[in-house]
Amino acid sequence: MGDMLRSFLFLDGEQKAFYSIEFHSIVRRTRGREMIFDTHAHYEDEAFDEDRDAMIRTLPDYRVQRFVNVASTWESLEKTKNIAGKYKNAYAAYGIHPDNVGDLDDQKMAVLKDYLQLPKAVAVGEIGLDYHWNKDNREQQIYWFRRQLALARQLRLPVIIHSRDAAQDTMTIAREEDLGNIGGVIHCYAYSTEQAEEYVKMGLYIGVGGVVTFKNARRLKETVQAISLDHIVLETDCPYLAPEPNRGTRNSSRNLRYVVRAIADLKGITTDEVEQTTWRNACRMYKLPYEIS
Ligand SMILES: [Zn+2]
Repeated sequence: MGDMLRSFLFLDGEQKAFYSIEFHSIVRRTRGREMIFDTHAHYEDEAFDEDRDAMIRTLPDYRVQRFVNVASTWESLEKTKNIAGKYKNAYAAYGIHPDNVGDLDDQKMAVLKDYLQLPKAVAVGEIGLDYHWNKDNREQQIYWFRRQLALARQLRLPVIIHSRDAAQDTMTIAREEDLGNIGGVIHCYAYSTEQAEEYVKMGLYIGVGGVVTFKNARRLKETVQAISLDHIVLETDCPYLAPEPNRGTRNSSRNLRYVVRAIADLKGITTDEVEQTTWRNACRMYKLPYEIS
């Protein structure tokens, strides 16, 4: 070792730079197979206008080797397509969030279908029901939720479900539409442990993000303890919902390490196990190979 160090000291700058790069790539290769999959991010959001490219390119330094950019508005479809087209580790979900279904019509559904047939489209989302902000258009929300579920069924794609203050209607639709057969995730899960267990029984995944680190998230913590890790996927919902200790700041996939730590502590397992298992869950859900090429 002494000899190696001495000969390193006598290398010129260029050679040192070369060996340093080699050293880092060896560290990266041998660090283990743990990898983080952010199953739900909004990097098209204007919160990333200043540093989007640098942010996305440095995610592998935080072991985040893949993410799915999730559309929610009509305008975000094209932005999501551009992100998936530009970055190797980026995939796309295309769908219209319940807050924004007011503009939908048959013609727009046909365009949405075209987006969903693009090479890196892995899911329909985010779609669902939100009675928190919108109480007056429940029928309309339910109608477009079902229409987008039908599209997912037709295209054999899983769904990313947003559901807020709509536990009962979401469960009813899940049963009626045979959601287990479509597959997907209840994103940013915020309902009871009993309902989580029922979704898990259907074969769906439970999306867990920054909220699990919050002190007052007792119910979510119980749910994470109750269900098997085999049914949990990691997500940020960035730029929203940054975990502790960064709560209240702009979120990014870099922060998923705090979510991994919280899940590991709740379940009494290692962070490596959380990363490995949730990586495989996300790959299975989105029908991607485990290995990155
Ligand atoms: Zn979202």
